[in-house]
Amino acid sequence: MHAKPMLYNAIEHAAQPLLEAFQSARHILVTSHINPDGDAIGSVVGISRVLRQLGRTVTMVVPTALPGVAAALPDAADVQVYADTRSLPAEVDLVLLLDTGSVARIEPISTHEREYLAARALIVIDHHATNTGEGMLNLVMTEAAATCEILALLVRAWKLPLDPETATALLLGLITDTQSFQTTHTSPRTLQVAADLLHAGGRLNDVVRSMLFAKPFAHARALGLAMERLHQEGAIIWTEFTQAMQRDSAADDEAGDEITAYISRIGGAQAYVLFKERRDGTVKISLRSAPGINVGSVAQALGGGGHREAAGATLEMPLDEARPLVLAKVRALLEGNQ
Ligand code: 5GP
Ligand code: MN
Repeated sequence: MHAKPMLYNAIEHAAQPLLEAFQSARHILVTSHINPDGDAIGSVVGISRVLRQLGRTVTMVVPTALPGVAAALPDAADVQVYADTRSLPAEVDLVLLLDTGSVARIEPISTHEREYLAARALIVIDHHATNTGEGMLNLVMTEAAATCEILALLVRAWKLPLDPETATALLLGLITDTQSFQTTHTSPRTLQVAADLLHAGGRLNDVVRSMLFAKPFAHARALGLAMERLHQEGAIIWTEFTQAMQRDSAADDEAGDEITAYISRIGGAQAYVLFKERRDGTVKISLRSAPGINVGSVAQALGGGGHREAAGATLEMPLDEARPLVLAKVRALLEGNQ
């Protein structure tokens, strides 16, 4: 592997060194962040198919349970959930970390497998502005709408064909991360990549069905409970999802994403916050903002990260303390923007 860590932010510079690194690896562990979303799972499944096409042995692992949208991808059945297995293959000599800003974000792998990770080469491909560049090779393109967009461009640069399954996986990441091409990161290139993926046989309909027409009943219940606690304070809209609400709705962790997505569609505000109480007593915050408002800075100041307009953090304190602290920081951000 390369002696000196390299940070790339464009495909044309990264394509060749990445290809060489993958081709010289024997067994690649492909992984992504805790609570993997559509971009995480689409990236893992999509690039793994390409790496196998290159003759590599690949193991796909995610830290915690797969998202519901994974149902659109037959290969997702082969993705191992580390929280269940608590094991990683010893033969692996290269770890590929996708759609993840830092190694700490692959909890519980990051704490339980410290030595395992330290003993192996790491490659990072991501689009988060807060990426810490911990790999030997890092390709971080913050303008990309999704990590799947970067991977599609990479496969094209490698002049490899895209089969329909790979195209569907990458399409899933592209469509979920842009919320159907609605986020500000959606560029002409994003749409061109989407068109390429459709040409390659990507099953748009399966992606859309799994993403938008398969909401669990419990998520709808959770949304109802969270809406009862909806608050508007100036330009901030916020709500919360407590442990009691999680019990009452029987909803899983993913319901929080639903609530965040819903409140961020309400007009007349500039920042949106969901406070989610975790079982371990910590509070997960999800921040969203109107274009131009950098809530990512608030998340980062609280030890988290993400994008300018979509970010998150975990606070080691009860909800009653987290609420005023976070709202004050968001208020200060908005006042600074006036
Ligand atoms: P969400 O609010 O949907 O969980 O996360 C929004 C964005 O912020 C995602 O891109 C996610 O990866 C990132 N994010 C959420 N929580 C954290 C965190 O604790 N640390 C970091 N570095 N990024 C986070
Ligand atoms: Mn992403």
